[in-house]
Amino acid sequence: MSIQKKSKNKKKTEGADCRDCNGLCCRYFALPIDTPKTWKDYDDIRWYLSHRGVSVFVEKGDWYLQVDNRCKYLDRSHRCRQYPLRPRICRTYHTGDCEKAGDDYGYELHFLNDRQMAEYMRSRFGVNVFQRLEKIKVEKTVRRKGRS
Ligand code: SF4
Ligand code: SF4
Repeated sequence: MSIQKKSKNKKKTEGADCRDCNGLCCRYFALPIDTPKTWKDYDDIRWYLSHRGVSVFVEKGDWYLQVDNRCKYLDRSHRCRQYPLRPRICRTYHTGDCEKAGDDYGYELHFLNDRQMAEYMRSRFGVNVFQRLEKIKVEKTVRRKGRS
């Protein structure tokens, strides 16, 4: 599993100045997730997106879950309190294509909340996609009754 910080889809520049930044790249982390295939997979992602501070984006065909939560080592002056011991992922991140460097990320898809995913699911699987959830509920009820 490769955890990552986000990179802008742009030409490399000389790089942003970290001294002039409030530590944008230290305020989240992103994890790769399986590419959804079925409506159930998308519905699981809708559940992720029901949580505060969670978003999902697609970059170069790969899906990522992002959690907005600042690193505990980012101090009030937006400096790293464990700079000499900062993890590898922080050491290898380049200012040339970081958050501060400008431009957008060029994501193929970007979901900020569950409502956006619900809309996407309707466009992909039909407006009645959520009736399937009702069906699951009914099936469970019938099964429970069948046991008694
Ligand atoms: S790498 Fe970019 S986003 Fe991170 S602190 Fe430096 S300028 Fe800010
Ligand atoms: S360890 Fe330091 S450089 Fe890495 S995310 Fe935390 S504050 Fe930022």
